[in-house]
Amino acid sequence: MSYDDNNIFAKILRGEIPCKKIYEDDFVLSFHDINPQKAIHALVIPKGKYVDLDDFIQNASPEEMTGLLKGINIVSKKLGISTENGNGYRALTNIGKDGGQEVPHLHFHLFGGEKIGKMVE
Ligand code: AMP
Repeated sequence: MSYDDNNIFAKILRGEIPCKKIYEDDFVLSFHDINPQKAIHALVIPKGKYVDLDDFIQNASPEEMTGLLKGINIVSKKLGISTENGNGYRALTNIGKDGGQEVPHLHFHLFGGEKIGKMVE
């Protein structure tokens, strides 16, 4: 699947639509999910144009990979849900149709602030 420049997260990255920003650096942008499923529901997205995790693994640079993983850790600490300053969280990424992915720009969901419960329905 080729990258769609008109997906909603591409528009957020270009500043064309607003988001409730949590954190930003050279590699990632993080913001609150518009339709939170748990007490805390944040999204962490790479700044590069990657459709999903498979695309990212195959095409991202080592710096981008490190940047995304570090971004998740930074955001978890900022939100007080890391195991260092909170009670932990779940990081999840949906891939493709069967994975339930709706927005075709790689994103990690961070769920926390309460017990997250069953891993899958
Ligand atoms: P997924 O199903 O993994 O692709 O998740 C897409 C997520 O993006 C959902 O949890 C949506 O609630 C969220 N979402 C969609 N539009 C926006 C938006 N404009 N700002 C923040 N989150 C959004």
